[in-house]
Amino acid sequence: MNSLKLIAINIAIPLFTYVVFALLAFNSAKLPAFLFSIAPYIFYTLSIIILWVSWHFNRNKFIFVIAPLILIYTGFEYLSAVKATQLFHYSSIIYPIHLLIFLVLKERGLFSVWGILKIVFVVLEVVVVLLLLYYPNELLQELLNLKIFSISFYPLKDIAIAVSLFVFFVMSALVLFNRYLIYNATFLIILIAYSSGLYLLKTPYFLDITFLAIDMIVFILLIRETYRLAFYDELTSMPGRRALVEDMAKLGRKYSLAMIDIDHFKKFNDTYGHDTGDEVLKMVASKLLSVGGGGKAYRYGGEEFTILFPSKEVNECFGHVDILRQNIATSAFVVRNKKKAKTIYINISAGLVQNSPKDKNPFAVMKRADNALYKAKEAGRNKVIKA
Ligand code: GH3
Ligand code: MG
Ligand code: MG
Repeated sequence: MNSLKLIAINIAIPLFTYVVFALLAFNSAKLPAFLFSIAPYIFYTLSIIILWVSWHFNRNKFIFVIAPLILIYTGFEYLSAVKATQLFHYSSIIYPIHLLIFLVLKERGLFSVWGILKIVFVVLEVVVVLLLLYYPNELLQELLNLKIFSISFYPLKDIAIAVSLFVFFVMSALVLFNRYLIYNATFLIILIAYSSGLYLLKTPYFLDITFLAIDMIVFILLIRETYRLAFYDELTSMPGRRALVEDMAKLGRKYSLAMIDIDHFKKFNDTYGHDTGDEVLKMVASKLLSVGGGGKAYRYGGEEFTILFPSKEVNECFGHVDILRQNIATSAFVVRNKKKAKTIYINISAGLVQNSPKDKNPFAVMKRADNALYKAKEAGRNKVIKA
């Protein structure tokens, strides 16, 4: 299960965004009407920016969330009242399912086979909705009017509520157990925003503001995602070298730094294969991420890691690094090789230093930590040496 703290953060960011927009809509009477009259223009502009940025960063999930939203919104604005009402009902059922499908589908190039299949799927959705709008189907009308609940959710049909609830529960389970928390949590809030936006149709401006809020939620997710791409390491999900360099520039007058390297990792790769090596790197990373004493761990590169201890003296950090070393050395790692399972152990060596006035910059401190690490290797490995 995902940690509750992470779940809370990932829910809070989109939820807060939505609540701000919802409050704006609820207080529309007290605010200048001008603000609300420009909402559609902001919606279209922001949508196009999202499409453009997603395209450039190869994050097509966002394209598939926003493009249908633009179509639905345009339909609401320009279709006749009768057809707009029909579109309202169809989209209240189809869009939640659409969100779930595109949340679960893997990110692929837009013009790969999978990407083209996705585009075909969306085109089919549009064609089906258009056909239904212009050639209403009686059976479907009956289904739309099906009573499921004892209370009414007017203007939403019961079937739309049932579908939204189903998607809500699946997404909630994904938030709890699936590792793509940032996406799952955001899509869950988009679902809630979309369904409540439709439900509160009669509240002035609420639907316009809801669509704008969803745009903003996706835009913020896009920014967070590009930040993650820049500063986090793909394999281990820990901060990477760029994050380390940025954080080193922010260090105060006193700090400590540890350089860590996995022992005999080349031999490990040669024996068990590169993929198993990657799994070990992930295991070591997850242990290093739990470092105590206010330390923060980074993947320096390859099988080398750095831990920064802001405002800490070397003696305050030694115990924390040594616990990591012991913890890793005593953690069994199971390798499955041609059906045979084998338990293996892996060690790390570390060099730990504190900055001194003689160091010109944090990189000089890092160099000294590297020297200490070298001594740990010479002294037989599986050791922490402080300089
Ligand atoms: P030492 O105890 O002296 O550190 O020995 P070593 O074999 O670990 O030596 P070194 O640190 O030079 O070896 C680095 C090896 O780490 C080389 C490379 O095969 C492996 N490596 C680096 N990055 C990755 C990675 O991302 N995945 C995997 N599987 N292996 C990696
Ligand atoms: Mg190395
Ligand atoms: Mg090594």
